This record gives sequence, C-alpha cells and structure tokens, in this order.
Amino acid sequence: MLKISLISLLAVTLYAQQSPPDLVLSNGKIVTVDERFTIAQAVAIRGDRVVAVGTNQEIAQLAGPNTRRIDLRGRMAMPGLIDNHMHLLRAAATWTKELRFDGVESRKQAVEMLRARVKSAAAGEWIYNIGGWAHQQFADNPKPFTREELDQIAPINPVALQESYYQVFLNTRAMEILKIAANAPDPPEFVKGSILRDAAGKPTGVVQGDIPGTRAVANKLPRVLPEQLEASARAMVNDMNRAGLTSVGVPGCDADVLSIFEKWKTEGRLNVRVFCIGGTAAGTPEAVDRSIQQLARMKLFQGDSFIDNVSFGESVYSPLHDPMFARKSNPTPEQLDQWRKMAMAIAQAGLPLHVHAELSGTIDAFLDQIEAVNKEHPIKNLRWQLAHVNQINASQIERMKKLGMYAAVHPWAVINGAIMHEGFGDGAFDMPPLATLQNSGITWGLGTDGTAANQTLPFVTLYFAVTGKMAGGTKVIRQTISREDALIAHTRKNAYFVFQENNLGSIQPGKLADLLVLDRDYLTIPADQIKDIKPVMTMVGGRVVYEATLKPAP
Ligand SMILES: [Zn+2]
Repeated sequence: MLKISLISLLAVTLYAQQSPPDLVLSNGKIVTVDERFTIAQAVAIRGDRVVAVGTNQEIAQLAGPNTRRIDLRGRMAMPGLIDNHMHLLRAAATWTKELRFDGVESRKQAVEMLRARVKSAAAGEWIYNIGGWAHQQFADNPKPFTREELDQIAPINPVALQESYYQVFLNTRAMEILKIAANAPDPPEFVKGSILRDAAGKPTGVVQGDIPGTRAVANKLPRVLPEQLEASARAMVNDMNRAGLTSVGVPGCDADVLSIFEKWKTEGRLNVRVFCIGGTAAGTPEAVDRSIQQLARMKLFQGDSFIDNVSFGESVYSPLHDPMFARKSNPTPEQLDQWRKMAMAIAQAGLPLHVHAELSGTIDAFLDQIEAVNKEHPIKNLRWQLAHVNQINASQIERMKKLGMYAAVHPWAVINGAIMHEGFGDGAFDMPPLATLQNSGITWGLGTDGTAANQTLPFVTLYFAVTGKMAGGTKVIRQTISREDALIAHTRKNAYFVFQENNLGSIQPGKLADLLVLDRDYLTIPADQIKDIKPVMTMVGGRVVYEATLKPAP
C-alpha cells in the first residue's frame, strides 16, 4: 500500500513541476503545416517552444494563473516563413538608404514614393534602390522610367533605380557623378556597351548588362556609415518580420553584419534566424587547388537554431556561374573538370552543397559531374541542392531524386516574368515548372534570391506559385500549385534546406514557436489577394517580434 501512495505522490509532484505555458493562443485557425496538415484551434507555448496544439478546451486546461492569453478571434495562424536563399546580410549596408519597390504594383505610387523621398532628402543625397522590382510590375502603367521624367522629379538629387539585375535608370545628376557623358567614352569600370546611347551618342540614362553591367552603378552608391550599420540591419529585420519571414538561408554571410546578429543573439533580441551558405568560389584551376586546401578546415554546424553555417555555396567554380539573363550556357570540358574536382573535395569532406544552377545546359552538366562524384563519395545524406533552377525539367528532377538531392526554387519571374518571356518565348511559361517539381516528389522549397535579383515578400512569392502571376498581375507561368503545397514549400520543406526540420517549419509540440497571425485566411481568400496578406503578429522563439495595431477581425 505504501508503495502505491509513494508512486502517486511522485506523479503529482512531477505534474506540478510541469509548469503551465507562458502563452496560449486560442479561438484561431491554427494551420500547423504538420505532416497531416492538421488545423487546430489553439496552441500553448512555454519558453521558446510549442508545448501543445489542440482544441480551445484542451489547451485552456493547461493554462495557469500567470499564463498570458491571446484571443485570435478566428484569425489564421501559421508557421513563420522560411526563405531558403536570400542575400539578406549584404543588404543591411544599404537598406535604410534604399527606396524599395518590393510589391509596389502602381507606377503612380512609385512616383509618389520618389517625390516624397526627394522632399525629405538632404542636398546632393543619392536616391536609389538596388533591385527587387521591375517596371512590368506596375499594373497601372508598366513603363520604364525616362531620364527626363526622373530629372523633373529630382532636379538636384542623383537618382539610380535598378530593376532586378536587368537595367538601371539614372537621372542627369547621377550621370554627371558617374561621369557618363555625351562627348566622352564610357568610364572604364562599365561593361562595354552597357551604357545605352541614342543615335547621336547621347546617353539615355539606361545602363544594362546583367550583374556586371548593373553592379558598375551599384558599386558607386553610398553605403550607410559603419556607425549606422546596426540601425540599418535592425530596420531590415523589422521589414522581414512585418512581411512574415522568420528564417533565412543566406549565401555569403557578411562578417560585419553577422557580428551584429551575434551580438543581438546574446542580448536575446535577434528576430530572424540565419543559416549561412559559404565558401570560396574558385575562379581559376590554381584557386581550385587553394580552395580544396581550405575545405578541409571548413567546419559547419557549430552554431545553434539562431545562427549556423549549413552548406558550401553558392558557387563551386565561378566561370560556371550562370548569368541571370543569359539564354544558354555552354560549359567547356576543362571548366567542368575543375567543377568536378572541387565538388569531389566537397563530397569527400562530407559537406552539404547549395549551388547556383539556372540554365538547362548547366543543370545537365552539373548533374553529370555529381553522378561521377557520387560513385566515389556518395552524397545521399549530404542534402546537395541545386539553387534557382528555373529551367529544370522532369528528367533532371528524376536524376536529382536518385542522388538524394533537393531543389531550391527561386522564381525569378515574380518580378522578371516579362523579361524572361522576351528571352525564352513560350518556354518561360514553365520557368519554373512548379507542378512538375511538386508531382515528382522531390524535396523542394521556395525562396526568392532577393534582395536585388528578386523581391523579398514571401506572400508575393506564394501568390505567384498559386496564380502563376508576376507582381502586378500578368500571368507568366502555367504550372501553378495548390495553396497547401506552396505553403509547405515555404515552411516545413524549407526547414530541411537549413537543417532545422526538428526545430522549424511547422507548429507542433517540441518545435520552436516561430509563427504568424494573419489579417486574413490564406486558405480561403480569393487567390489574387494572397499577395496582400499582412501578418498582424510575428513570433520568433515565443517572442513577439512584430505586432500590427490590431483591428477587429472581419
Ligand atoms: Zn545565385
């Protein structure tokens, strides 16, 4: 008898030690995105983790006197969104200086934003953005900017508006500063022919030429001062949280910004998780040999669920890095030998790989090399990923599946759809082939490749995946997918890309409490409105990192 009461006493004590949750969200539509796509009413959070998901009644029973309660009033909640590839840290150096057009669908609005910026700008201050938009997204008037128009809006301040990596629009003052003139040769730092001129040789204000062409301008634009970097990074992270992002795979984590993130982490106020993709991209055979030496010392997975290094990337051998707007690729056997040598060393070191691969010819050539590598150093469990892959086809997807590879899909067409249709004709309707990817069963996830190549707003990416429409509403791809599959690709599947599937990607007991409460229901609103969804609350690890002023639920 004594034995039994001791046991029951023990059980009561253990139960009491199981302290009640810190926070309960109830009366919601909790889209958990677990394996069964379960929808619940309530969720309980203790510390930084979800402890229970269930009905209002089940979760209410767990609450204690000090449990904070939030009534969701029928609103939808979902896991925080993960972008598996965004050049986030790099953008901190310009974020507060940029006049971003991400998701701006009206030219009239863009012009108003410009005018307002001119009004508030200091004398001589640059007004600029570095990508993230294209004029074809302006539904009311999809026209490029002209030099005359920009001069009229900004007669004194220099203006540079960069569309993706396609072209930059300059006003007269900007051209003077950049030394682009009618009666002078192009400055040497510009790619030959990238400065467009009219028949009389007068520069039009447009600079083209893909990444090298547009970077000649972007490199000249002022960065924030070192003492302003933290504030700029903070504003950028706030914008990401407002848009619904809680985790990002980051190619090339800039050390100066990363150290700010590390500091925030120790202070408990890092509001976005960053998973770095890094490594030296060799550009010559000699550099390949040096890079292979460095590889042996490369250590991944020394971090935690806030900051970690997770992959080698995003370039293996830089001569085989597809330009953004190239129509075809033609890798030479010598280049591919270097690529394979490097890839072999990456596999031998047991490292995950995330590599830029866009054009069909490049994807085939890389897969040839990876199949050869795989025979010597199996890559099955290394989660090797081809990134961007807008031109991928069904047979390439099958080859990747056999190798155990993942597809990191970054639909450049979200802003570049019209440009891609000019370059590829009807083929662009399958760039990317989202339904083929989804139906193949390959592990694939969504990202943007922002902040220059593409816009950064995840609900615009989800709208694109579900409707096939680029920002502004023009239909540019035909292979659309369901809302559920798009959401899974932007949450639970992406967790695998950043090696956090046990922590992130769904609202489940034991996982980190990264979640969004939305102003409308992603699953039931008209598909054309998905791009307009706004989180009213964003939570990272149980902490509210963004909160809109709550209006009564509709
Ligand atoms: Zn890339």
